[in-house]
Amino acid sequence: IWMQARSKALFDRRGNAYRFVAALTDITHVVRERALLERQKEQAEDANRAKTDFLAHMSHEIRTPLTAINGIAEILTKNQSNLDDRQKKLVSTLMSSTSTLKDLINDLLDFSKIESGELELEEQSFEVSEIFEQTISMMSLKAAEKGISFLFDYKKVDDLTIVGDKQRMRQVLVNLIGNAIKFTEEGSVKISAYIEPRREMECLCIDVADTGIGIEAEKFDMIFERFKQADPSVTRKYGGTGLGLPISRNLARLMGGDIVISSAIGEGTTFTVFIPLSETSSLGDNKEKKRINKKINKKFLNVGNDNKPVLIVEDYEGNVVVISYVLEEAGIPYDVASNGIEAIEKWADRQYAAILMDVQMPKMDGFTATKRIRDAERDEDLVRTPIIGMTAHALIGDKDKCIDAGMDEYLPKPIVDSDLKRVLLKYLHVDEEAA
Ligand code: ADP
Repeated sequence: IWMQARSKALFDRRGNAYRFVAALTDITHVVRERALLERQKEQAEDANRAKTDFLAHMSHEIRTPLTAINGIAEILTKNQSNLDDRQKKLVSTLMSSTSTLKDLINDLLDFSKIESGELELEEQSFEVSEIFEQTISMMSLKAAEKGISFLFDYKKVDDLTIVGDKQRMRQVLVNLIGNAIKFTEEGSVKISAYIEPRREMECLCIDVADTGIGIEAEKFDMIFERFKQADPSVTRKYGGTGLGLPISRNLARLMGGDIVISSAIGEGTTFTVFIPLSETSSLGDNKEKKRINKKINKKFLNVGNDNKPVLIVEDYEGNVVVISYVLEEAGIPYDVASNGIEAIEKWADRQYAAILMDVQMPKMDGFTATKRIRDAERDEDLVRTPIIGMTAHALIGDKDKCIDAGMDEYLPKPIVDSDLKRVLLKYLHVDEEAA
């Protein structure tokens, strides 16, 4: 048996002990219950871990065949010319369902990683303005399609370099902006970034403000719970899984910060992410880079209009919009091809100042197209056209593959405005006097 002993001496006024009181209590049942609770807690934790593992494994397994289904859906979507209307509708439903399923699986995978504590944040030094540039290029098409204005103001943090996980920070931003665009029918989505103390820490704060449907105050907590949406009609009307916000908040918390919300029904919603700045963050030490970028910008705008056109080879409409915008700004003519075969046809027809070549495309990828162009140039003794590869970040070894295929340069996606200009300037005629 387990005993608890308590004892105490009693003293008279002169400080002499005159009595000793002791009590012994049988606490066996308390100890047993404590041990039982401990065991049950462990069992519950094991079960939870097993569930999370299962979820992670299943998401992973489902993703493999899904990649194939998604690929097929994409091929069908791009080759619709001999389909009738009913078949086209089927293909578009297949495409949208697969992409919803893909988002869901990716979210589940993230979620289970966060829950099991397996998600590790990277620590790298980067300029905050970089994630803004990338997010703009990813989201502006969506906003444009809905006809809402998409505004950015990050001047106050333009010079800020921080240490953290760039990818995950961008993911949070993309989630919040995606929601803002999704739940806004007219008006604007505005992103502003600034530095402000929060919870007694100096923080990078980012507001994502929309003029959309808004959220009732009673639902502020609920929407951060997994699989929860403000009301049941949301799934029907807007789609979604209810995982975006919980993941985003978890990520912000892992970074030591948080996400807060303010909203009024019918007026709009503002989500604010704040992330504490570590001691290694710094403001203003990339002045040199800023100066160079400014120079590049100026030089780019002075590109003479006697240039040969640039050929954009890209199957994703969003990237075409972003790149053509940059070219139009400087008055550079351009053509667009949406796969390798089209690219070769266009190249054979016209002399280009440079070709911007996506590597992953249907029908013929960018590596093959580049090799064919280089072979033809050699065989027919033609002028060599500069080719700049554009690849998704995730694919390691792509840079070598680009160079091996005969490309001159390579740009990682999402394409950053200043990098694109810097690379293009090498191959374009610039009016030095004006610059
Ligand atoms: P999902 O968008 O996939 O439904 P989220 O976790 O991202 O899941 O969001 C949960 C819910 O929060 C949404 O379903 C919606 O009801 C509400 N919500 C999120 N962002 C906004 C917003 N900007 N405006 C209005 N409601 C929003």
